[in-house]
Amino acid sequence: MEFKDAQKRVLELKDILWENSRRYYVLNAPTMSDTEYDRLMHELEDLERAYPALLTPDSPTQRVGSDLETGSERGAFVQYPHRYPMLSLANTYNIDEVADFVRRAEKDLDGVPFTYSCELKFDGTAICLTYRNGRLVRALTRGDGVVGDDVTRNALRIENIPHKLSGSGWPEEFEIRGEVLMPYASFDRLNAEREANDDPPFANPRNAASGSLKLLDPEEVGRRGLRCTLYHIPGQTGLFSTHAQALDAAASWGLPVSAERRTVGSIEEIEQFVAHWDVQRKFLPYATDGIVIKINEFSCQNTLGYTAKSPRWAVAFKFQAEEAHTRLLSIDYQVGRTGAVTPVANLAPVQLAGTVVKRATLNNADQMALLDIRVGDTVRVIKGGEIIPKIIGVDLDQRPPHTPVPVFPTVCPDCGTPLVREADEAKWFCPNGDGCPTQVKARLLHFLARKAMNILAGEATVEQMYSLSLVRTPADFYSLTESQLLLLDGWKERSARRFLESLEASRNVPFPRVLFALGIRFVGETTARELAVHFRTVDALAEATVEQLLEVPDIGDVIAESVFAFFRNPRHLEEIGRLRAAGLQFSMEAEARSSELLEGMTVVISGTFSVSRDEMKRLVESNGGKNSSSVSAKTSFLLAGTKPGPEKVRKAEELGIRIVGEEAFRAMVAAPGEPDGGAHQEPEQLTLFG
Ligand code: NAD
Repeated sequence: MEFKDAQKRVLELKDILWENSRRYYVLNAPTMSDTEYDRLMHELEDLERAYPALLTPDSPTQRVGSDLETGSERGAFVQYPHRYPMLSLANTYNIDEVADFVRRAEKDLDGVPFTYSCELKFDGTAICLTYRNGRLVRALTRGDGVVGDDVTRNALRIENIPHKLSGSGWPEEFEIRGEVLMPYASFDRLNAEREANDDPPFANPRNAASGSLKLLDPEEVGRRGLRCTLYHIPGQTGLFSTHAQALDAAASWGLPVSAERRTVGSIEEIEQFVAHWDVQRKFLPYATDGIVIKINEFSCQNTLGYTAKSPRWAVAFKFQAEEAHTRLLSIDYQVGRTGAVTPVANLAPVQLAGTVVKRATLNNADQMALLDIRVGDTVRVIKGGEIIPKIIGVDLDQRPPHTPVPVFPTVCPDCGTPLVREADEAKWFCPNGDGCPTQVKARLLHFLARKAMNILAGEATVEQMYSLSLVRTPADFYSLTESQLLLLDGWKERSARRFLESLEASRNVPFPRVLFALGIRFVGETTARELAVHFRTVDALAEATVEQLLEVPDIGDVIAESVFAFFRNPRHLEEIGRLRAAGLQFSMEAEARSSELLEGMTVVISGTFSVSRDEMKRLVESNGGKNSSSVSAKTSFLLAGTKPGPEKVRKAEELGIRIVGEEAFRAMVAAPGEPDGGAHQEPEQLTLFG
């Protein structure tokens, strides 16, 4: 590869990896499978090895992925530096590379005898506990490896983390590290609850564990059924000579240490351990994604030391994503709220990564053609980063004779309207948005949802109301009478009253949520809020041109066109008129401005601050500025807290855009800092661009 091409690919890989790292660690909602992420990371490592000039300290190969970035719910934790950095592990999917690790260790340790500790690689989120005088005093997340979020109040609610140690002989103060896990049983229960409440389900137990550990309500953390397993005591080389001894001692103090570990002396024994658990892990009640092999003797660990990102004395062998083979029984074509038609495979039930899988997505017509899939085929199913299992291949040898190629429908499976497909879309759509029953019912349900109007009625109720012709559009809900509600199966006066009360309460739902409830294509919660804040009234929004819509931060062509088109449809305007007559909120007061100092400026916020990031955003707006999420030539300055996103900093530097720290910003808008000088951090310990 030419240097120029390598350079281009390196930049591309860095962007992809940082973005996916944020989705994984901060949002707990990955969209890429771990195998794919690791493949891209290894490609980047190879390129940086081949072209050392392309290796920069901000590369994802040089830093652990950070869970620190703030969102609306986050940024609320006090942060503390780790006494010893919390690193990642070098990983491989190839057992030959574990043998290379063994050979390298033997060579570097130059004849000194040593052993290996083989352990399960638990798939949860890392935690560091500090015990002082036998009591748990602090629990930190890995954070960015240097600084972690203080989640002590939450850790105290995890059932198997002892508040007080038992036994004897513990150091006066010590750290112990491990993993917080969500067992499959808790995970299934949590996702069932979330789906019932219209919250998006977690993709996997790891994301659920990590999301739960960062909740602001410790009571709720307690209800989530988390467990902890501990696997590393750093810095106790004076007390113990091996890692295994240290863990045995920790177990004797009442700490949860896994018994599924073994001290071995050769690559053959390592391979046996790996082979055993590759099968047996499927029977464990929690997720594991590999085996960790550590050099057991502390003196040898010290000789080998660390890279910037991981210890040289350990390696993780990762299992391939679990794959199941099963038969494709039939294909359904499902119409969604927006009219998109998705093919869904019905499968012979099969056990996969802790749950029984019966359905999997086939995405779209192109994907079906690419797989050359037929009903009756034996298919290979995986769970990627996403919650919905995916079919990744067909076993052609097992195909029964004369199986026909499935025909993607040309008309809507629900209302019979011919499907359409835009040139740049992968999906076919039913264009009969206002008449297609599935779309109409899905939109009614969206309107009622907790995050929208929060009206007490679910799918079965909407189904009945629809089939009795009581409702067709959301405005119809507001003219329902008690006697009509009593026509519904199983409804008594009490249920009717509760429904009418929640309908009444929905009249006070603020404008941004009402706008979200309207279900405009591409307008999610955040976009609805931004549009509402920008235009203040539905009339102003309805009159906005595409150019005016594009002035709203984070609104691009696709959303602007969609909003514009929505308000050009007379049916939508009539519906809004009826909802307005029913007393819903279609405007909001402008927030009081404290100054015009940032008038005309567009600010990008990144990193953590002494207050939450939302608070910083409000400060920008209340001084007349606008917030935007990405750095571009239009950005006036980058407001950078602790550990801002490296890509944002790079882009700002590249475009010559000013980078302003929190203190300088507060001076700029002359707003006094928090009275305690920002109790959320220990600023002297932190560097701005560390
Ligand atoms: P890792 O999960 O591969 O390994 C390191 C972690 O393993 C440690 O931090 C620790 O938390 C854990 N661990 C579990 N059992 C252990 C044991 N017995 N001893 C020591 N540590 C143990 O590394 P990481 O840095 O946390 O995450 C990187 C991985 O996360 C990637 O390899 C990738 O698979 C995944 N990831 C996926 C995406 C995505 O989009 N799907 C994005 C970012 C990261």
